[in-house]
Amino acid sequence: MNSDNVLKKEFSKNDVQRARNLISGNISARTTEGIGYSKKHEHRVEGDVWEENGRTWTIKNGLKQNITKMDKFKKMGKLPLFCPECNKLMKKHLDTKVFPAYQKCFDCVVDYEAQLQKEGKAEEYFNNLHNERINNIQKEYENFMKEKITEGSNSYVTERGDKEDWKGGFDKEYLEKELQEGLEYLENLKIK
Ligand SMILES: [Zn+2]
Repeated sequence: MNSDNVLKKEFSKNDVQRARNLISGNISARTTEGIGYSKKHEHRVEGDVWEENGRTWTIKNGLKQNITKMDKFKKMGKLPLFCPECNKLMKKHLDTKVFPAYQKCFDCVVDYEAQLQKEGKAEEYFNNLHNERINNIQKEYENFMKEKITEGSNSYVTERGDKEDWKGGFDKEYLEKELQEGLEYLENLKIK
């Protein structure tokens, strides 16, 4: 097996694994914010900082790298001091956990869900939350796979920043099929 084949094989294996992780919901708890994906291929140079798939990237020493710290600061900045619903100071760890998805503090979420329970609307509400989460995973999975499919025969920089060149691309049909099957699988997880 020549070196091109080795790279091609590793690429497929790693990326398919990442795609499967996305399917199984094995992604860091992300909100719908920041998932936006730009299809434009832009030429980046050393020191550029840009957003892609809800993450911040830069080119350092000629390699594409993920800036995790900057992401964290941005998320912190998005959390207001006070809950928009009850106007109380949001200081609990649970507040920061629930705020991105609910736009209110933890206590307000608990109250809201108790109210729904009383009104008999809880099941519908939780089903919607469940389906919404699957929608988000589907979007993220589709973006990820389409990015892989369009990347084609270009040189490829892994998330760790290693640069890999390969020629002749990879099995596009296989990835397209994998994408469709993944989306179908996720669709079936929705509560109808
Ligand atoms: Zn509140």
